Amino acid sequence: MSKIIAGNFKSNLTRTKIQEYYQVLDSKIMPNDEVFLFPPFFALQQSQKFQIGAQNAYPANNGAFTGEITLEALKDLNINTLLIGHSERRTLLGENQEFCAQKFNFFKAQDFSIFYCIGENLEVRQKGFEMTKKFLAIQLQGIDTNYPNLILAYEPIWAIGTGKSASLEEIEEVHAFLKTLCPTKILYGGSVQKNNLTEILKLPNVDGALIGSASLDVNNFIDMITLARELS
Ligand code: PEP
Repeated sequence: MSKIIAGNFKSNLTRTKIQEYYQVLDSKIMPNDEVFLFPPFFALQQSQKFQIGAQNAYPANNGAFTGEITLEALKDLNINTLLIGHSERRTLLGENQEFCAQKFNFFKAQDFSIFYCIGENLEVRQKGFEMTKKFLAIQLQGIDTNYPNLILAYEPIWAIGTGKSASLEEIEEVHAFLKTLCPTKILYGGSVQKNNLTEILKLPNVDGALIGSASLDVNNFIDMITLARELS
């Protein structure tokens, strides 16, 4: 079974650069690759050989939600994949668990594929594994973990964008625990790069990777897709 490789551009790149990126990527994707990209809103469009998803959406059909994108617009763009619960939205934009669950349920009712992110901060991690487990379980409150179109992403906040991934032991320990709560595919995210991707993907309970900064360069991202392909 092929491993999932997903790239989160966050608020990087421009429309022009992303169009070029799509063209290069499209020419390198092979039939069994499972590749997802989460670009900023301005680069959302229907894709061919890889999937494009939104980094965020407001749980409404349309309406007075300044700055947000809603279901009607996503449908028009043929987008039916969505990232929910990323730590940057939880911490910088103040999205609480109730709101994450509200979004999840709204887009679940629309049959969206949902990449749902959870992850503890350093303070929680330093309190030990039991506290980490409790914290992660709370981030699953209100989420239907049996939803067939759910892909969970474990992203410890202390490993995101720091250049220091969680260790293989830490990743496997958490993923094995999460598999007991959530019988779905589980991705790891947090400073995944070319030099640690293969070892991470080889872990028994890791079904793929969610990649931030290392996805911004298309050739680097293609190399990572190639590494994942070699494991399938
Ligand atoms: C992310 O924010 O989803 C992420 C995994 O970022 P990075 O790979 O840069 O740590």
